[in-house]
Amino acid sequence: MSAAISEEQWEAAAAAIRGALTPGAQVLLACHVNPDGDALGSMLGFAQGLRQLGVTGLQCSFPGPLTVPEPLQMPGLSYLVPEEEAHEKPDLFLTFDAASVTRLGKLAHRLDTATVSVVLDHHASNSGFGRFSLVDPNAAATSLVAARLLQRLGVTFDREIAECLYIALVTDTGSFKFDLTTPEVHELAARLVATGINVGGISRRIFDTRSFGAVRLFGEVLGRAELDPAAARGLGMVTAVATIEDLRRHEQPPYVMEALIDSIRCTAEADVACLLKQMGEQEWAVSLRSKGGSDVSKVAVALGGGGHRLAAGFTGRGDAADVIREVRERLT
Ligand code: AMP
Ligand code: MN
Ligand code: MN
Repeated sequence: MSAAISEEQWEAAAAAIRGALTPGAQVLLACHVNPDGDALGSMLGFAQGLRQLGVTGLQCSFPGPLTVPEPLQMPGLSYLVPEEEAHEKPDLFLTFDAASVTRLGKLAHRLDTATVSVVLDHHASNSGFGRFSLVDPNAAATSLVAARLLQRLGVTFDREIAECLYIALVTDTGSFKFDLTTPEVHELAARLVATGINVGGISRRIFDTRSFGAVRLFGEVLGRAELDPAAARGLGMVTAVATIEDLRRHEQPPYVMEALIDSIRCTAEADVACLLKQMGEQEWAVSLRSKGGSDVSKVAVALGGGGHRLAAGFTGRGDAADVIREVRERLT
């Protein structure tokens, strides 16, 4: 187990949680805006673990509209409440996969109003908020941190908890392919799979299912991709831009754009992949990936975002060409 979180930190957080779980306690769990598999999976898996411990006043939330993309449907969605309905002064507040308070939107002020707050995360760029901060930058996913804490609290992984934690693990490790896919990752996966979850079905739903409209949309966006061999100190950068008009033309929801980054980051001639997903007029959710030659989290943090050395993101404003130029200028 990584030493990023000391035994004292684990025990202090676990003791604070046990202390907060009095009968009738209000417990709020939150994850980052526009949640991915790790954010949702670790939060909903943890919520079901707390339910096993007898907690009843459970709520889960994230900023923005409460829509969960089809591939990320999982057990525990019934705990989700819109941010406006979340407990104002919870006895216990836990956050998942959020590297900064801004990623929690309006839910963030519970860090001040909650009696106890515990932050579970794995971003090196985590700004260190929350009364109890459990951040392990060597963990491949926040679900590893969540699983360790659940175990310490005496929760046994049932099939529903396992499905959530497995979805979290499989998305953030790219199906056990990325760096940080340690023996502990596989050991946790083995324990989760042993509960009887449908591994093949989960993988098909998350990675291998796409509507025909999305297939056509991918073809067009990839057809416009550009390669800049001189960028990133000559290591190369590949860029692609997906617009709202692309989505409209193919009648697709915004989440289908998330998988596009995996289709461009395989480009052999580029260390860096940069995908712009249009959110509004002059507004882009930017995904950055490196194969190892560049620290894209530095670029993302400099542009107001965050992430990991090899996978990061930020919100870009202006014309697509300007946003790409800003990224290029920082890849030095
Ligand atoms: P994505 O490209 O959306 O898959 O995100 C890759 C990584 O960057 C994840 O670890 C995210 O938490 C992080 N990230 C993405 N967008 C942002 C943002 N706007 N602000 C902070 N971190 C971000
Ligand atoms: Mn995430
Ligand atoms: Mn994560």
